[in-house]
Amino acid sequence: MVRLGDLLVSLPFGLFLLLSGAFITIPGANAWSKEGHEMTCLIAQAFLKPEASEAISHLLPPNVKGNLSALCTWPDQIRHWYKYRWTSPLHFIDTPDDACTFDYSRDCHDPKGVKDMCVAGAIKNFTSQLSHYKEGTSDRRYNMTEALLFLSHFMGDVHQPMHVGFTTDEGGNTINLRWFKHKSNLHHVWDREIILTALSDYYDKDVSLLLQDIERNITDGMWADDDTSWEHCNDLSHCVNNWAKESIQVACKWGYEGVQSGMTLSDEYFDSRMPFVMKRIAQGGIRLVMILNQVFGDDHEEGFATAT
Ligand SMILES: [Zn+2]
Repeated sequence: MVRLGDLLVSLPFGLFLLLSGAFITIPGANAWSKEGHEMTCLIAQAFLKPEASEAISHLLPPNVKGNLSALCTWPDQIRHWYKYRWTSPLHFIDTPDDACTFDYSRDCHDPKGVKDMCVAGAIKNFTSQLSHYKEGTSDRRYNMTEALLFLSHFMGDVHQPMHVGFTTDEGGNTINLRWFKHKSNLHHVWDREIILTALSDYYDKDVSLLLQDIERNITDGMWADDDTSWEHCNDLSHCVNNWAKESIQVACKWGYEGVQSGMTLSDEYFDSRMPFVMKRIAQGGIRLVMILNQVFGDDHEEGFATAT
């Protein structure tokens, strides 16, 4: 297994500067933070089978040297570009206020009601596209590189609990509050604030140290008995629905619970919620690599039942 810390260290720092400088960042965008997506993809990369790793290296632009995590935030960076505006509703799911459930046929649509236009639909669609990768190079119907980047990003988003939130408050985006001393909102607390506070309080602001902790918990720590069930999946539609349900349940029980606009969230909220953020990042990574190993792996005949 590749050590997560090694992957992170091997990431060309200049590339990050280049990427972050090359795109306009939209404040308040719906997304795990850069760190959240990066960690999800680094976890996935650490568990890739050789044939999946080779396919991914082939699909990524040469300058990232096979490092998927370098481009896992790309779908956030382009979602407001004219060409990609259609992808904007694919980052989240709005569920009925206070229902605390996810129902694909009821909830997976864009604001105009177009069906399948939500993060759960997107994961199914891009997995289905990638499952054609092995059919050869000449007649590919889809842009496989984009499909890989979208899938990798959306597997992060579907695990961010507030990305499967309530409709009226836009997944917590309109619940303005303070995170310790600065202004924030509930959505952003789960996207980024908890991760940044964890990094600065416990990991000397070093993402690779946080990743090592997550890695330890996956392989022989508190999640060691769970991670095989996390990645168990025969029918992708069924699995994606479950992942979205897990998110709205965490959002209800731990995200929204006890929170109102205008309040200040601090130590008590941080301490009790941080383990959920770390677990969701780990689950996103483990399930992403499960899909990638299936669509690119040699045992492809055992692949998912997905619509083509
Ligand atoms: Zn996103």
